[in-house]
Amino acid sequence: MKVFSEKHKRNIGLAYLGRRATQTNRWLGMDAGYGAKHAWISKYQGKPEHCSMCGIKGEDVGKTRKIWNIQWANISGDYHREVSDYRPLCVQCHTKYDLKLHCKKGHPYTEENTYTVGKRRACRACQRDYTKRYQNKKNHREAN
Ligand SMILES: [Zn+2]
Ligand SMILES: [Zn+2]
Repeated sequence: MKVFSEKHKRNIGLAYLGRRATQTNRWLGMDAGYGAKHAWISKYQGKPEHCSMCGIKGEDVGKTRKIWNIQWANISGDYHREVSDYRPLCVQCHTKYDLKLHCKKGHPYTEENTYTVGKRRACRACQRDYTKRYQNKKNHREAN
């Protein structure tokens, strides 16, 4: 089972915040979250030329400033200073890859936070939040 480090959880949060905005902003948001830690690998390895998942070619997609559409994604979440801990992913694949690691709200899909409804994977933290909100509403209603 994969245990998420605090660092990675923070990054997941940042990635999630970034994702709520538009496509370009979303990318910028991710960039802000991932940028610093990925700086060394970019320096070391340069811009990734192809996405390792879908194979599309890298290009500048930014309108106001240059944004390379393929980034080095960290695999372990620990940001080891090793080339083997990174893989090049395009925006779309990076988002997909991220969603495999956590729910839409950014809760990590760890073993203890995950349960299945039919064939779908569901997040316990979200379920808890939902129940709490429901209870609050109910309490509120009953209090009045
Ligand atoms: Zn891709
Ligand atoms: Zn969740």
